[in-house]
Amino acid sequence: MTDLPRERLAADVVVFRVGDLGESAYVIEEGCVEVLTAAGRRIALLGEGALFGEVALLDRLQRTATVRTLTPTTLLCIERAHVEELRKRSDPVIQYLLNLLLERFRIAQGSAAGRRPPDAPLGKEAADIESAALRTLTLTRDLGHAVDVDQLELHYQPLCTCAARSLVGYEALVRWRHPTLGMIMPMEFIGLAERTGLIHRIGRWVLRRAIAEWRQLRQYCERRDGLHPFVSVNLSAAEVADPGLVPFVDACLAAHDVPPMELKIELTETAIIEDREKVAWVLEQLAGRGIMIALDDFGTGYAGLEYLKALPLSCLKIDKNFVQEMQTSLPSYEIVRAAVSLAWSLGLSTIAEGVEDERTLGRLNELGCDVVQGYLIARPLPLAAVPGWVAGRAAASSGV
Ligand code: C2E
Ligand code: CA
Ligand code: CA
Repeated sequence: MTDLPRERLAADVVVFRVGDLGESAYVIEEGCVEVLTAAGRRIALLGEGALFGEVALLDRLQRTATVRTLTPTTLLCIERAHVEELRKRSDPVIQYLLNLLLERFRIAQGSAAGRRPPDAPLGKEAADIESAALRTLTLTRDLGHAVDVDQLELHYQPLCTCAARSLVGYEALVRWRHPTLGMIMPMEFIGLAERTGLIHRIGRWVLRRAIAEWRQLRQYCERRDGLHPFVSVNLSAAEVADPGLVPFVDACLAAHDVPPMELKIELTETAIIEDREKVAWVLEQLAGRGIMIALDDFGTGYAGLEYLKALPLSCLKIDKNFVQEMQTSLPSYEIVRAAVSLAWSLGLSTIAEGVEDERTLGRLNELGCDVVQGYLIARPLPLAAVPGWVAGRAAASSGV
């Protein structure tokens, strides 16, 4: 509230009149106002903390009353642009509900005043919000079921050494094959899963599946440059704050006879700062078994750097935004250079993600980056497509 613009008015000043356009709502911080009809009849007296003018602000119609200060008064102004901005940034379901309420309110007002037919169609923006919200509601409803009926699948994106381009591992990336909406990418449903708590079930499904499928993938990795082959799994904040994760991972590794150092856990800074003590304990346990811990999207967070020495990390993954701008933006290039050098001095390895062209790969190699991942090497592949990709690569390098 304190950031809202203020208007300080003397006594007997008109704030707005009947017929003005409603561009702001107001909260009385100090003083008092009277509300008058078009005929000048007082219908209300409002004091500190009262909100007025919100109806015209929301329905974009003209003011239906006049407001005048009775004493020197300070008003906090809530402007339309500010409200619209907040509305745009809110969850699509909230936008949808708000829009629906507003639309009903407008129709009720408009038809009462004979201004608008009750069946006036929604505008394009409202229709877009409605369809996004309906999609979100459908996905939220179906997500729990998706795990039970095996609609999730993992795609694997290969990672290669920067210098020799030897295949060293894969990142497991989850996809949801929805029966009617088609393939849904994680950016669209991981957030929903986090908000609904389903992330625990999804995360465990991903871990179990990635560890089970690792045996088939591992055979294609080349053991060179002293790097262990690995499969990487992304975990959300809530998962790494759950001590139950440790025995679960132990059981999955034992069931498939996978050495702990062949599993890598990727987590972001957000995950680290959310529940610091619990996360530190879980990571200590995992790292103590030899599991590698990578800090994902490095460079995009705000957590400071002290956790780099406090937590048992083994690797920094440099965010793709910096990698992709290396050629065109000196600051991005410098950030990548600093990240590689910081990792080196802390004894951590580096992975650059989002590498799409040869020049970027060449520059990363010059900087001493260890491993690269990106469309230049391969897109994420379904498990069944990996052998074909490996064969194609071998044929290309032998000139067949
Ligand atoms: P991330 O961990 O940063 O994963 C990398 C994302 O970048 C992947 O998108 C990948 O397909 C994409 N990518 C890889 N190479 C390139 C490239 O050269 N250019 C471009 N433009 N993009 C590239 P994807 O699969 O859509 O995953 C998005 C995010 O979803 C992941 O970002 C990760 O944060 C999250 N995610 C994926 N799988 C899981 C999971 O099993 N659990 C959790 N908690 N999160 C997951
Ligand atoms: Ca990742
Ligand atoms: Ca990343």
